[in-house]
Amino acid sequence: MSRSGAYRSRILHITSTDPLKYEYLEDGVLLVEDGKVADLGAAEQFERAGFALGQCQHEPDYLLVPGFIDTHVHSPQLDVIASYGEQLLEWLNKYTFPAEARYADETYAATSAVAFLNSLLEAGTTTALVFATSHHKATDVLFEAAREKNMRLIAGKVLMDQNATTELHDTAVGGIQDSEALINKWHGNGRLGYAITPRFAGTSSVEQLTLAGELHQKYPDTWIQSHISENLDEVRWVKEVHPHISDYLDAYERYGLVNDRAVFAHCIHLTASERKRFADLGARAAFCPSSNMFIGSGLFDLAQMKEDRIDVSLASDVGGGTSLSMLRTLADAYKVCQLKGYSLGPMEALALVTLGGAESLHIDQFVGNFEKGKEADFLMLNPNATNVMSRRVGFSDSVEDEFFVMMTLGDERNIAATYVAGEKVSI
Ligand SMILES: [Zn+2]
Repeated sequence: MSRSGAYRSRILHITSTDPLKYEYLEDGVLLVEDGKVADLGAAEQFERAGFALGQCQHEPDYLLVPGFIDTHVHSPQLDVIASYGEQLLEWLNKYTFPAEARYADETYAATSAVAFLNSLLEAGTTTALVFATSHHKATDVLFEAAREKNMRLIAGKVLMDQNATTELHDTAVGGIQDSEALINKWHGNGRLGYAITPRFAGTSSVEQLTLAGELHQKYPDTWIQSHISENLDEVRWVKEVHPHISDYLDAYERYGLVNDRAVFAHCIHLTASERKRFADLGARAAFCPSSNMFIGSGLFDLAQMKEDRIDVSLASDVGGGTSLSMLRTLADAYKVCQLKGYSLGPMEALALVTLGGAESLHIDQFVGNFEKGKEADFLMLNPNATNVMSRRVGFSDSVEDEFFVMMTLGDERNIAATYVAGEKVSI
C-alpha cells in the first residue's frame, strides 16, 4: 500500500490554538510523500505551478481534516461500554475490574487490542493516550498491535497494587519493573510512546506512587497519566486511603507526578488551590464529557479552566464514556459547556481534538495539522452521512457551521476514510 498520494478536496485544519486560527481551502490539494505532508494549497495554485490535478484523488463533497486525538481512553473497556446504573466506585467494582481481569489471557488481550485500535480508527481517532490493564503482557500486545498499524499511540500498563480486585493487583516494585521493561521496549519505538500509569491515587500505595515518580524522573520524556477528582465519593475516599495528603492533587504532587508531561482525566471537583498548582506545574486536563454525564460524576467547567490557564484536551474515556467518536464526544462537550454558561465554538472544538490535543501531549511537531513535514494522519469527513445531516448541511453558509452540524449530529458514520501516516486504513 502506498504512503504517498495527492488528495483534492475541501480541506480544513487549525493553524494556531492561541490565538485560535484555522485555514480552509474550498478547493485544496494535500500532497503526501512517504507518509508525511509534502505540500498543501489551493488547487488553482498547484495547477498554475504545472501540477496535473488529474492525478489527485478528487473528493469535492468531503471535508478533509487532521486525524482526531483522544487524550484519555481505556483499551479493555470496550467490553463494558454502556453498562447500566452505577456511579464511579461501584461501576469499577461491578463492571470494569471483572472485565479487565480477562486480559490475563494473552490471546484474548491480543485480539481485543486489534479490535480496540480498529474501533478507534473507524471513529477517526488516529492518536490516543491509552490505559491498558495492569497486565504486562496485555500492555505489550497493545503496543505490538499499534506498531503493526503504524499509529502514533501513547499507552501504559496500569499500576494498581491495592484496593482493586486481588487478581488485578500488581506489586509496588513489580509494577514498576514491568513499566520499565515496557519503556525500554516501546518508548520511542516508531511512533509509540510510554505513559507511566497509576490508575488513581486510591489504588496505589505510597510506595508505588513514590516509585512511579522516580521512574518518571529516570525517563523524563515519558508521559504520566491518571485520574483526579472525578466523583465526590472518590475524592473523599482517596483522602481516607491517604490521610497524610492535604488534598487530592497532593497525592500525586508530592511524588513528582504532576508536571507538563502528566495528563489527568476529569478534574471536575478540583479546588481553587488545586487548580492554581495544577496550572503552575503545567499539568494537562482531559475533559471527558460523555463519561462524566454517563457515570453521573459532574460537569467540567471549561471556561473556569481557561481562566485558570489550565491546558485542556478532549477525551472519550471509554468505557465510562459512551462513544469512541470524538464527534459525539464534542456534542457532549458542547452540552456540558452550555450547562456551565459557555458556548464551545466549532473551531475551538476542532482544535481540542486535533492541534490542541497534540500540543497537550507535546507531539505537535509530528501531528495535529497539515504543516509541511508533519505525519499525514487525516480523515475524509462526509457531511452527508445521513438524511438529517445532509438536509441541515444544505442550509450551512460556512465551514464553521458545517463542522458544528457534524460535531452535533455526527459519529463514525461521517468518517468516510481514515489515513495513518499517508496510508488508508482498512478496518
Ligand atoms: Zn478513565
